[in-house]
Amino acid sequence: MNQPSSMQVLPVRRGSVLKRMRLWFDASESVPSQACDPQRIDWLRALPFIAMHLACLGVFWVGVSPIAVATAISLYAIRMFALTGFYHRYFSHRAFRTSRMVQFAFALIGAACVQRGPLWWAAHHRNHHRHADTSLDPHSPTVYGFLWSHAGWFLTPAAFHTDLDRVKDFRGYAELRWLDRYDIAVPVLLAVLLYGLGALLQAFAPSWGTTGAQMLVWGFFISTVVLFHATVTINSLAHRFGRQRFATNDNSRNNLWLAVLTFGEGWHNNHHFYPGSARQGFRWWELDLTWYGLRLLAALGLVWDLKPVPAWVERRAMR
Ligand SMILES: [Zn+2]
Ligand SMILES: [Zn+2]
Repeated sequence: MNQPSSMQVLPVRRGSVLKRMRLWFDASESVPSQACDPQRIDWLRALPFIAMHLACLGVFWVGVSPIAVATAISLYAIRMFALTGFYHRYFSHRAFRTSRMVQFAFALIGAACVQRGPLWWAAHHRNHHRHADTSLDPHSPTVYGFLWSHAGWFLTPAAFHTDLDRVKDFRGYAELRWLDRYDIAVPVLLAVLLYGLGALLQAFAPSWGTTGAQMLVWGFFISTVVLFHATVTINSLAHRFGRQRFATNDNSRNNLWLAVLTFGEGWHNNHHFYPGSARQGFRWWELDLTWYGLRLLAALGLVWDLKPVPAWVERRAMR
């Protein structure tokens, strides 16, 4: 893979545009952070991200149909669960165990979220917990402001690199390394499948009023952009708005609205206090859809050893 170790200091790559565009398709050549200006956005590399937002405007041309909206909502739900249950609670925090097959299946669905590969995501997230709300936390809203914590930090050359030393427990899986290196592959495949499905519906069920372009805009672009902004509210808003039940060394908050939007991740102060638990809504009324989903997968025998919230945690809640 020729991925440089995190200890090397490399010069900033400024090669030809074509050479730099190669990084869209092969993320393994991203350089580690020390050599890069941590506040400089790589606009060329960010173009697909910007284009994804602009493509949502296509809705004015393609129109809408019930099947297109249902597809967008379903793909939001399935992919949000893959992000919260697996990219976050499994790959980042090892809050339960599973088989290599199920690990790969959810890594694949996670990769369809266009939030890069599981190793990249987990490595950055572990870094966040280690340095939460200090200058070493790349997306702290209290240090760097709302906009940067929401949608700036991951567009820098520094942040494109995956620090494999942070994910030593998973870096040995070739299939995960592949998803990380070619992180554009699964999103492109999903987009093509959606277009094909829409074209088939147009040909064989024209009364449904959908087309390939409509399924692409709703099922891929709109669903993915909403999914993205919902996910990153946990970086930008859940470290700012809400209540603190536990005295943590950071600004994390519990927020019901964010918990609804992100299937349970809004109980972020709970999570920062005890990140090892598979459950983030610590009390019965703290809605945590991901936890219920994981319980279902456990009942089906697909995951096991879900780590509970220990009794001593409740005793540490602030009165
Ligand atoms: Zn946090
Ligand atoms: Zn976490």
